[in-house]
Amino acid sequence: MSDTTQKVNLKNDFSIYSRLFIYVRPYLLAIIISFIANAIYSAIDAGLVYSIKPILNKGFDSHNTFYVKYLPPLVIVVFLARGLANVTGNCTMTYAARSVIMRIRQTVFAHLLKLPASFYDKNTSGKILSVILFNVEQISNATANALIVITQSGFLVIGLLYVMLSISWKLTLFFIIAAPIILTLIRYSTKRARRIGYRLQDVMGNVTATAEEVTKGYRLVRTFGNEDYEFKKFKALTKLHRRREVQNAIIKYTSVSSVQVVIGVVIAIIIYLTLSHHVNMDAGSFISLIAAAIAILKPFKNITRLNNTLQQALAGAQSVFSLLDKETEKDTGNRQIENVQGKITYQNVSFAYPEADKTVLHHIDLTIEPGQMIAFVGHSGGGKSTLMSLLLRFYDDYTGNILIDDTDIREFTLASLRHQFSFVSQNVQLFNDTIAHNIAYGDALDTNKEKIIHAAKMAYIWDFINALPQGLETAVGENGLKLSGGQRQRIAIARAIFKDAPILIFDEATASLDTESERYIQNALQEIAKNRTTLVIAHRLSTIQQADKIIVIDHGNIVETGSHEALLARDGYYTKLHKLQFESQPSQ
Ligand code: ADP
Repeated sequence: MSDTTQKVNLKNDFSIYSRLFIYVRPYLLAIIISFIANAIYSAIDAGLVYSIKPILNKGFDSHNTFYVKYLPPLVIVVFLARGLANVTGNCTMTYAARSVIMRIRQTVFAHLLKLPASFYDKNTSGKILSVILFNVEQISNATANALIVITQSGFLVIGLLYVMLSISWKLTLFFIIAAPIILTLIRYSTKRARRIGYRLQDVMGNVTATAEEVTKGYRLVRTFGNEDYEFKKFKALTKLHRRREVQNAIIKYTSVSSVQVVIGVVIAIIIYLTLSHHVNMDAGSFISLIAAAIAILKPFKNITRLNNTLQQALAGAQSVFSLLDKETEKDTGNRQIENVQGKITYQNVSFAYPEADKTVLHHIDLTIEPGQMIAFVGHSGGGKSTLMSLLLRFYDDYTGNILIDDTDIREFTLASLRHQFSFVSQNVQLFNDTIAHNIAYGDALDTNKEKIIHAAKMAYIWDFINALPQGLETAVGENGLKLSGGQRQRIAIARAIFKDAPILIFDEATASLDTESERYIQNALQEIAKNRTTLVIAHRLSTIQQADKIIVIDHGNIVETGSHEALLARDGYYTKLHKLQFESQPSQ
């Protein structure tokens, strides 16, 4: 995400590690078991290299029957133990690492549920998804691969160095002298790998966002014939992604290979010194030493390569943590209420969206009595939705006061406040689940069947549901039933009825519905409006005619208020709007 992109800041590493450690801590036992298993595994490997020396020097001695008798079964036992240690080490570490990832993902998800509307205004859902999917996965490399490699390869390097030292400490010294060169190489690649890690995240976020836009908006893309445009955009992004990945590989493999070349030079020096008899050594020791020196290449390679992975992981962690650091919705009120009467008052309310300089609501004064049905009308962009968003406290920094039952909404807890509302949105959001779950959203089903059926009946959708072979259990969405716009809206209305909240906000679909759907929805609205305060962002003449009062909003101001007839009689703004927007619609 662009605003989470961090500059490379190595000083921050410690805080990232310590923050990651909070997630790792519950799994320390698994990690310790894995450590021990990996230490055993590496000790066995180092021991195998060391055993070359006695086998070469003594095993080929025909008088020595010890090796013939015991070595073959010992080798089997050793390999069994090595296999067991490997499985234990890897599996326990994977368990720990995947648990860490699971926890982080859950924490991110829980945080997303609490972030304010302004966060969602700023970040596309594709980019947010990319954090949950891609960046969190980057961290998994740090925890799983890193810990396995660090322990297995780290222990193996120590074990092999020990073998080499015990054979010839003088020759081993050459390795130790080469260490600073190796470290410098690693440090250089560290910085570059991290930088590329951040760039990769950005590109990946854009790839996801574009793919998401095209899948969600496929109708738009096709209708406007923009397939080529979208494909070109995606092509450029994936090309960039490939470039970043290749850059990443170049850094990774050149650093690994340069380290190996340095080790190769040391091996060459050892061979020269031994074969030219500058250092005296028996054949067994020599082969064992060279075998150890060659064997050390692989763990060194793993550690060098790991360093790069780790940098990517830290980049991922930083993005994830910076998302977790985004402030959640303010929930400072402490008043709990069961059900309000439904009186709503706006007192001199003005509002501008965060980071936008334009004021979108100007000094709104409005009182709505309990049980009234109010239609908000006006040109698009006038501020109708914003007025509703404030009522639900999706945005907090307005001036003036908004009261429900004469209590400032800031005094209520958010949960308590939102409990008072049902909401039917313009673009109905149905979940990839059964009809029953969509109506009783979040509630237990078995205890609520009667209530669901009642809601479906009131929303005039029950006959349709009942006629389906699987009835309420029919799946909606991706793998299930395809519904018309009118049916979708009626399911959303049933959901609102099911919630049975004292205030209903109904954002009417602008899309035209067939006459039958239109009639059903009007009837349902009439039913649902009976015992509650109903606020409708109205696009339909029939709704407006039903309303107790019409509020006409333009450019953030209430320009006219009254009944349909009274407003028409005034021959003002509403009359013009009415001619423009509603006259072509059939009234009931
Ligand atoms: P309406 O519902 O009457 O169509 P809105 O309340 O959606 O109007 O919009 C009112 C004004 O606020 C418009 O100028 C719109 O561009 C602006 N606006 C709406 N939502 C946002 C947002 N999330 N961030 C910034 N500006 C917004």
